[in-house]
Amino acid sequence: MKILVINCGSSSVKYQLIDTETETALAKGLVARIGMSASVLTHKPHDRPEVKVSGEILDHIVAIEYVVSILLSENHGVIKDRSEIQAVGHRVVHGGERFSESVLITKEMLAEIRSLIDLAPLHNPHNIRGINACMKTLPNIPQVAVFDTAFHHQIPPYAYVYGIPYILYKRYGIRRYGFHGTSHMYVSERAAAMMGKPVSELRLITAHLGNGCSITAIDRGKSVDTSMGFTPLEGLLMGTRSGDLDPAIILHIMAREELSLHEANTLLNKHSGLAGISGVSSDMREITKEAAGNNTNAKLALDIFCYRLRKYIASYAAALNGVDGLVFTAGIGENSPEVRAQACAKMDFLGIRLDETKNRQAIAKEMDISAPGTKVRVMVVPTNEELVIARDTLRLVQKQKA
Ligand code: ADP
Repeated sequence: MKILVINCGSSSVKYQLIDTETETALAKGLVARIGMSASVLTHKPHDRPEVKVSGEILDHIVAIEYVVSILLSENHGVIKDRSEIQAVGHRVVHGGERFSESVLITKEMLAEIRSLIDLAPLHNPHNIRGINACMKTLPNIPQVAVFDTAFHHQIPPYAYVYGIPYILYKRYGIRRYGFHGTSHMYVSERAAAMMGKPVSELRLITAHLGNGCSITAIDRGKSVDTSMGFTPLEGLLMGTRSGDLDPAIILHIMAREELSLHEANTLLNKHSGLAGISGVSSDMREITKEAAGNNTNAKLALDIFCYRLRKYIASYAAALNGVDGLVFTAGIGENSPEVRAQACAKMDFLGIRLDETKNRQAIAKEMDISAPGTKVRVMVVPTNEELVIARDTLRLVQKQKA
C-alpha cells in the first residue's frame, strides 16, 4: 500500500510517500513558507535528483495540492494516478489523555482532536489544518492520526503529576504528557534488535536530540518517564527552547521587562536554548565549530547541553534501576560524535564508556559505539518517525477492512 505521511507546522508541510511493502519512501519533501513570500516546495523522488518549485502557496490546502501534483508529475512524480495513494497518516503532536494510540480520523475524532487545542495551541491547530487540507484534496481515503504523546501514556502518576495543587491537573489536565513518542518507540525497537533481545527484556534510555530534544526511560518496552512535559518546552536544552527552568524566573522577567504572555512564550520557545546562550546559532554544527574556535559562549552552550544530558541519563538509570542500552538519535544524536562523547564522559560509574573510533565513524547510521566489555550498550540509531506513522496507518486501515 502507498501511504502519504504528513507532518504540518505553522508554515510548513513535510511529507513522504511510503510504500509499505518495501517500507521505503518513494519520495519525500517539504513545502516551506506557506502563506509568506517566496513559498517553495522541495521534492526528492527516491531515484531522481531533488527539485524546487516556487509558487503562491497561500495555505495548507494549496500546499497539499502542490504535494499531490508533484507526486503525479511526469518528470518528478512517483505515481500515475492519485488513487494510488490509499491512505494518509498524520503526525499529531498532542493526544492528551484521550488518545493512547493512533486512530482513524472520523468527524467525531477530529472534534476530539480539536478539543485538545487548548493543551497544545502552538502545534495541534497546524496538524488539524493538514488533516482538513487532505480531506479536501484526497477525499474518500482513510486518514489516520498518530500522536507524539501516545507512547508515553503509561507513565506512572508519580512521574507525570507536577508539584502544584492536584486540582489543577483535574481541572486543566496539567501533567507531563511527553513528546517525540514515535521516535523513542522506533529507536528502542531498533536498539533491541541490535542487541539481539526482545524490547520486553531491556531497560533503555533513548535520547532524541534534534531541534527539539527529549530523553525517555523505557522499561521493558514501556515509556516510564520522559523529559518533555506539559509542553515540548521542558527538559533538555534545545536549539531555541530553554528546557528546565526555575518557574519563578519567568515571573521575575515578565515583571522586570514588562513582557506579555505572548512575549514570554516567544522568549522561552524561540530565543532561548543554544541560540540564546551562545548568541551564535541554534544549530549544533555552528555551536561545535565556534566552541572549538574558542568562542566562550558557544562553549558554554555546548557544555550546558551535554551536562544536562548527562544528568538526565543518570537520573533515568535510577528510574530504571539500571540501564542496558543508551540510544542517540535525531539530527544531533545521529551526527555529532562531539556531543555523544561529552555526554558520555565520566559515566563509567554506570557502565557507560564509548569506543572513540566507533563513535567518530557513526554518522547517520545504525552502530554500536560502546567500548568492548562495557556493561551498557551505547548505540546510534537514525530515527524514522514517518515509517512508524505509515505502519500504524496501514494497521488501522487493514483493521477497518477486516
Ligand atoms: P527536527 O527536530 O527539526 O526534526 P533534526 O532531527 O533534523 O531536527 O535535527 C536538526 C539539528 O541537528 C540541527 O539543528 C543541527 O543542530 C543538528 N545537526 C545536524 N547535523 C549535524 C552535525 N553533523 N553535527 C551536529 N549537529 C548536527
